[in-house]
Amino acid sequence: MKKIIIAIDGHSSCGKSTLAKALGNALGYAYISTGDMYRAVTLYFIENQVDINDSAAVLEALKQIRLHFVADENGNRIHLNGRDVSEEIRKMHVAELVSPVAVISAVRREMVRQQQAMGEQKGVVMDGRDIGTVVFPNADLKIFLTADVNVRAQRRFDELTARGQHVDFEEVKNNLAERDHIDSTRADSPLRQADDAVVIDNTNLNHEQQLELALDLVRERGR
Ligand code: C5P
Repeated sequence: MKKIIIAIDGHSSCGKSTLAKALGNALGYAYISTGDMYRAVTLYFIENQVDINDSAAVLEALKQIRLHFVADENGNRIHLNGRDVSEEIRKMHVAELVSPVAVISAVRREMVRQQQAMGEQKGVVMDGRDIGTVVFPNADLKIFLTADVNVRAQRRFDELTARGQHVDFEEVKNNLAERDHIDSTRADSPLRQADDAVVIDNTNLNHEQQLELALDLVRERGR
């Protein structure tokens, strides 16, 4: 069987990781949520009080950061310097700083380098903001996911509440809007739909319907 690279991009909280994970499971592929990588870098910056406006400090910090993914029954867990930070990185204090961190070109360069290395063997589903445009411009299948902003905010609110976090709906919605704005307007690798991406609006689709649509696209590409 020919293995392919699948890139999934889109706005915050439109279900990219859920679809990437389901596709990965269905195809026996690795799935990588690149947002987790930017979030883990952000957590390191917070914990070590790295000033994001000090480029020397940022470069030095990047040298200290080791990220790797460990697959277990709870999904793909991200480890920061050997510590599982998968829960910590979903908290609001990280969400509030991650987009300003992801603007920094030195951070992006290092993350993209690691992401490209993970795709070398193909057989990978990767989700993020710049996967189809920058990380894998030649990906065999590119999906651009989108959904109504109120639906996205409700999904993220439900997810955080289910994790036991006490958050305010408006705070969650404002954070999504703010991140979308920063992600779409930054100079380096802004979030945009690749010309050859297939758009899936999942406002009114459940998980199974999205997976079926995506698997049809995979089959069309001869996998
Ligand atoms: O996917 P998730 O919402 O967890 O991503 C968190 C943040 O990481 C995004 O809002 C964006 O600022 C940044 N990001 C990025 N490029 C990617 C993935 C995430 O800039 N490929």
